[in-house]
Amino acid sequence: MNEWKILVVDDEPQSLMLVEAMLTRLGYRVYLAESGTDAIEQIETLNPDLILLDVMMPHMDGFEVARHLKSNDAMRMIPIIMVMALSDREDRISALEAGADDFLSKPVDQTELKVRVKSLLQIKAYHDHFRQDQERLELEVARRTEQLSEALEEINRAAAAAEAANVLRGEFLANVSHELRTPLNGIMGMAELMLTTDLTKEQMEYTELVQESAERLLDLIDRTLDFSEIEAGVMILKAAAFNAWEWLDDIVRMLHPKAEKKGIALNVFTDHNLPEWLVADAVRLRQVLVNLAGNAIKFTEDGEVNIRISLESDDEASNRLLFEVSDTGIGIPAEHQERIFDAFTQVDSSSTRRYEGMGLGLSLASRLVGMMNGRIGLESREGEGSRFWFSVPMAPK
Ligand code: ADP
Repeated sequence: MNEWKILVVDDEPQSLMLVEAMLTRLGYRVYLAESGTDAIEQIETLNPDLILLDVMMPHMDGFEVARHLKSNDAMRMIPIIMVMALSDREDRISALEAGADDFLSKPVDQTELKVRVKSLLQIKAYHDHFRQDQERLELEVARRTEQLSEALEEINRAAAAAEAANVLRGEFLANVSHELRTPLNGIMGMAELMLTTDLTKEQMEYTELVQESAERLLDLIDRTLDFSEIEAGVMILKAAAFNAWEWLDDIVRMLHPKAEKKGIALNVFTDHNLPEWLVADAVRLRQVLVNLAGNAIKFTEDGEVNIRISLESDDEASNRLLFEVSDTGIGIPAEHQERIFDAFTQVDSSSTRRYEGMGLGLSLASRLVGMMNGRIGLESREGEGSRFWFSVPMAPK
């Protein structure tokens, strides 16, 4: 006895019994239906592996039953053997069209029945196996997809949390910087007032030192504040028209004393066709230029620092401004040049280093230039000097 279930459909009881006997002898589990409607009813609950279907039946003939089965998703895979008079060519074509998988002639021959049933069940077995594999695979794919989407959700949650933490950290830093500035402004104001009073030479020197230190501290706090604002994504650039000459004059006037104090020449060159009015965030643009020029003065012991502003020459439309700052200072070793724009990077980070700083200036400059859709870069030779440059679109987008 095997597990195959075969439904035999015939309206003639003798034929039914005959085929039942043959199939039972072959070891199949046999079920019987005496009409088309009876067959369809049974198939739904029985789910047979094969149907032997008589064609000539009253009410609902074999063709109709076959058509019904093949139009049903759950039943269309059950193989059908049509039992009929094989002499009629038309009938065979109709049977194929209705969905028959094979034929048997009436009266049914035992050997023929055996061979045809066996071969169809074999195909069905392959088919079932294939379907099971496919279902397993589909289940596996669904399971993995779910796992993947869970992992993705987890990543998104973590990213959102990290983002929130980042904003919080930025806000905290911005707050701290702001709180530090208030008392510092007090110190600077008082030092300035003190200088207007009657002081001895010594007292005056000390007070000036207080003022200078406070200014340096203020500068550091400002940079930290800017950096944290950029990190938190809350810094916004405000582009507006400004007068290029006044802007440049202001910068030179601010840098000049520092250069003079070190005995370095500070020269400014401008392109003859540089427009008088520029559109940009003047404060941030100035910050970048002051930063580069400030560094140039800081890292140059003798010689000169040159600032040049021009229209970028390799740009056909000439709609980019090029700022260059070159110096005759200590230069930057090649191996340090690549990472020079990273935050907290200094060429000499030893505790005995000659130059003070936090390594934030260039990183800030590069981020600001990036926010302006600009480019920044450098060329430098150790011991000979450096040329830092950046270019920004003349009319920001
Ligand atoms: P810092 O506040 O330390 O000056 P920066 O980001 O402005 O930070 O500069 C980072 C480092 O790059 C400096 O510490 C210095 O080693 C090097 N550097 C920057 N500009 C120059 C320059 N013009 N000449 C030589 N070294 C420079």
